[in-house]
Amino acid sequence: MACIVAKFGGTSVADIDRIERAADKIAREVALGNKVAVVVSAMSGVTNQLVQYCNDVTPVHDAREYDAVVSSGEQVTAGLMAIALQKRGIDARSWMGWQVPIKCSEVYGKARIEDIDGSHMLERFEEREVAVLAGFQGVTERGRIATLGRGGSDTTAVALAAALNAERCDIYTDVDGVYTTDPRITKAAKKIDRISYEEMLELASLGAKVLQVRSVEMAYKRDIPIQVLSSFEDQIGSELPGTLVTREEDIMEQEVVNGVAFTKDEAKVTLLNVPDIPGIAAKVFDPLADANVNVDMIVQNISSDGKVTDITFTVPENELDKTLEALNAQEELKEAEIRADKDITKISVVGIGMRSHAGVAQTMFRTLADKGINIQVISTSEIKISVIVAKEYLELAVRSLHTAYGLDG
Ligand code: ADP
Ligand code: ASP
Ligand code: MG
Repeated sequence: MACIVAKFGGTSVADIDRIERAADKIAREVALGNKVAVVVSAMSGVTNQLVQYCNDVTPVHDAREYDAVVSSGEQVTAGLMAIALQKRGIDARSWMGWQVPIKCSEVYGKARIEDIDGSHMLERFEEREVAVLAGFQGVTERGRIATLGRGGSDTTAVALAAALNAERCDIYTDVDGVYTTDPRITKAAKKIDRISYEEMLELASLGAKVLQVRSVEMAYKRDIPIQVLSSFEDQIGSELPGTLVTREEDIMEQEVVNGVAFTKDEAKVTLLNVPDIPGIAAKVFDPLADANVNVDMIVQNISSDGKVTDITFTVPENELDKTLEALNAQEELKEAEIRADKDITKISVVGIGMRSHAGVAQTMFRTLADKGINIQVISTSEIKISVIVAKEYLELAVRSLHTAYGLDG
């Protein structure tokens, strides 16, 4: 007998038929004697529609009310899933975030889970009642509903697994595991059997949206294995058909490079003719921090004349306007030329094996050079190398790197 949390994403609960199929899987887990809690997303497309409604009223809206609107999709699926389970003779009950409660911070629209009081749910869980929790939502100290950012049901699921002391969190989705790159980009993408928390964290942060970054962070911190698996295939979580995200020690063979990730939604900002004086970086980045802009790659060159220098960095594309506004307001930058470029993509290769292998970066640079792709910015860490290239090369670059690192299936 195992304690499992099973999460079904939007495509896996897209209509009544799929909800029924998901309920069948839960019924099979229960029949095996497992204790199960379920987390559901909104039906596929519903959250996008709800976001659109808010924007249609006014693009600049109150984040609290945005959360009141967009959290509603999960309420519907939680209720429907509970009904579908009851129809199968299972003692099931739906829970909204505030009923547990899932306490979260007051950053509406991208709140963080601070605490889950699982005691009430745990009692019922011990009695084998199947809890069906609405993903993506929590409640703030003031008693308002807040949402956890797009893809946040993954985080709800891992947080619940931690609160219930579950031994695994199964994430049912529309792919049968984590792949060496997004299978939508290349057919050569290969399913990975096991991947370390650390590598998955990098892949997710660098654009592989199969898991929300914070869900992996939490799984890593609390050591809760995540299994990514398909809801469209016959197997259930306990048969372990998917990809296991787990501790590094539990993985026998480490590849040098395990995956290629990319983001399309970043923009590059370059400041030319910035005075090369102490404190200038702070002058550039302080106002961005104040405006809550998430700055990513930062490159500053040494000045050739000792007077002026250039700084390049990337920000999320939807925060570019805010960034330019903040920079233009800086007195110290009034002589600088500010350039912005949205036609870029960040491509990264990730692998724990990089720690002990030389020449990994060289392979990346050589491969891109052979395809005539110009590298604009490079950044590295212990287990990843990222480059910025023009957006038009996205697919070519991902496919060539996938081949160059021997990942093709
Ligand atoms: P859900 O609605 O179930 O949460 P998502 O759309 O959030 O599903 O995540 C699944 C999608 O993630 C897949 O359809 C796939 O296109 C995409 N994806 C991106 N990178 C990867 C990867 N490395 N491995 C598997 N899927 C990936
Ligand atoms: N429904 C939310 C979204 O589409 C949360 C989730 O599915 O994880 O972002
Ligand atoms: Mg998702």
